[in-house]
Amino acid sequence: MKKIIANFKMNKTNSQVKEYIMKLLPRFDRDDVELVLCPPATSLSIANFLLDGSLIKLGAQNLSDEEEGKNTGDISGEMLKDCGASYVIVGHSERRTKFRENGKAINKKIKIALKNRLKVIFCIGESLTDKNLQKTQEVLKAQIEDGLKGLYENELDNIIIAYEPVWAIGSGKTPLLKEIESSMKLIRKTVANDFSNKAGEKIEIVYGGSVDNKNCNSISKLKDVNGLLIGGACLDPINFSQLLRDVKA
Ligand code: PEP
Repeated sequence: MKKIIANFKMNKTNSQVKEYIMKLLPRFDRDDVELVLCPPATSLSIANFLLDGSLIKLGAQNLSDEEEGKNTGDISGEMLKDCGASYVIVGHSERRTKFRENGKAINKKIKIALKNRLKVIFCIGESLTDKNLQKTQEVLKAQIEDGLKGLYENELDNIIIAYEPVWAIGSGKTPLLKEIESSMKLIRKTVANDFSNKAGEKIEIVYGGSVDNKNCNSISKLKDVNGLLIGGACLDPINFSQLLRDVKA
């Protein structure tokens, strides 16, 4: 089943999330697509209440790298779970750059998320400089190795890798389909080397970065792509419900 992850980023108040869900719910009728909405943490509880009984899942956009206490302003994995989240995004490029989250912190977050029975949407991706210096392979490998360090193979069942080239996020630019395919293969190969061939085949990988109504069908058709992570194009529920219709399951 294809996974579609909608990252609202820092958009929408509680009343806007409510209006969004009321518009999206009657327009979403696919049972061959797993839809995960990731609103801001402030709206998880209201979204959980409104989505009760539907097939749509709820995800958070980040969690603390500590389990509890100190860390003023942070939100723990346990708190997210308690608000109804079943997924959490970890290592988004905006967090890696602006909040200087490194591989060690991301690895800690992944372990805390798993401990709290949250499925992890683990974001990786090369910057434009990495791409221009032909360092994409090296960077993706290092991000995967740092993020998944110390995990047991069976824990990968609860990890989805989101391949998001940093230069594609919010830019309107996407890699060529063959470039996406080759990155997906590299990710599978890295997981195979670090865990097992079976793990490399099984791991779920989604693509993110400027997915829109025009390209969602061709990207979702790619063999190694198990779904999409969508930012800007998910914010309007009517437009997004059209996009969801065009995704290849
Ligand atoms: C994102 O923020 O993860 C993302 C993919 O954004 P956009 O779709 O706007 O590029």
